[in-house]
Amino acid sequence: MGVPKAVILLIGSELTEGRLLDRNGKFLSEELTELGFFVQEMRILPDDAALLRIAMQEVLGSEARVILSSGGLGHTSDDLTAALWAEALEDSLHFSSEIFAVLRQELEKRGISHLPYLEKYAMRPQRGEVLMNPVGLAPALYWEKGLQVICALPGPPSELQAIWHEHLKKRLLERFSPQSPLHYTLRTTGISESRLSALIEPWEKTLPPSHRLSYNPSWEGVTLHVYAPPASDMDVFEGRIRELRTLLQPYIYAEGNIPLAQALLHRLKQADFTLAIAESCTGGHVAAKIVNIPGASEVLLGGIISYANSAKMQLLGVSPEALETEGAVSKTVALQMAEGVRKAFGADVGIATTGIAGPTGGSPEKPVGTVWIAVATPTIQEARRYLFPGDREAVIERATATALSFLWQILSPKV
Ligand code: ATP
Ligand code: MG
Repeated sequence: MGVPKAVILLIGSELTEGRLLDRNGKFLSEELTELGFFVQEMRILPDDAALLRIAMQEVLGSEARVILSSGGLGHTSDDLTAALWAEALEDSLHFSSEIFAVLRQELEKRGISHLPYLEKYAMRPQRGEVLMNPVGLAPALYWEKGLQVICALPGPPSELQAIWHEHLKKRLLERFSPQSPLHYTLRTTGISESRLSALIEPWEKTLPPSHRLSYNPSWEGVTLHVYAPPASDMDVFEGRIRELRTLLQPYIYAEGNIPLAQALLHRLKQADFTLAIAESCTGGHVAAKIVNIPGASEVLLGGIISYANSAKMQLLGVSPEALETEGAVSKTVALQMAEGVRKAFGADVGIATTGIAGPTGGSPEKPVGTVWIAVATPTIQEARRYLFPGDREAVIERATATALSFLWQILSPKV
């Protein structure tokens, strides 16, 4: 048997009407791929019986061995999934007093004596099973039919994930015992996608054809993902990964799923440095990225959002002359902000952002998107000018990511 194929149906008009961004497809496809399934398709469908019937028939007639759906298992009129799966599988749903009793017990534990629609969650398929929901009411419905497994999962991501971890993952592994593929994720910053791809081109050419390399660029940097199919030679794979790491060494901030802010904190901690942040155009976004990482308190002393010139002068000691002659968005002011915040908090390292996020406030010399980022350490004072395209949100987001990257680069161990 080759790699078993899987299909995911994401059901909900809030998805197809753009009111909700899907999380279940992302979760399930990531998990399935990790286990060694090949996700051949993900479909997003509205709560529409006719369209759902067609889609269900199609996927049941496909090569997919695993068919998962999310959403539409509740008690409201737009919740059609359970009945339609039963119909497509020529099965029927029946009230189960056992399930009802379990659900009632669960509710009692939470101090709720009665829910008017509880019976609707206590339906089980005649020829299938239910997988109980550890964190909510709607159980998942599960069928094994011919070569296929069909499972209808509830829409709320926490419930879907709990059922996956508690029941479904085990079932799929037992039934298909897929072999895991090999994965490796490398995160880089401070190098553009085009320079990076030029740098690793010769290496890429020597990859076996079955291996896949994918690029995932973000404002924080370029993430590379290397995939080798199940049953690949682990030693060959690891050899290739070592070569890749050597090629990209100065730019690698992490392997696996680690955000840049975490790698930066690690670098600061290793150097035994404390950090203070002065933000103008990013308005606290840089600090928020740092604070999101557990353990930030060991490094971050504080931050100042110095938006007005008066705040830059009073709180950070930026000189009125610099503001007058060079303007708030300038190298001198950025450097004074970084040094000022370092002193204000008694920190080892200061970082500062000042720029024009737009849509107004630009000029020919300093167009919208101009941002100065400065870093001050006991030995280094450095500022860089950037010009970020995009709207206000994009400029703020890029400036924030770039500030983290810039500081990470400055702190790189000098060899
Ligand atoms: P419930 O019993 O809560 O109604 P359900 O199985 O009927 O569960 P839906 O009604 O389709 O699920 O969705 C309930 C909620 O779950 C949605 O309002 C949304 O917040 C969340 N949800 C559903 N599908 C997704 C998805 N693909 N990604 C992220 N969130 C989702
Ligand atoms: Mg619902």
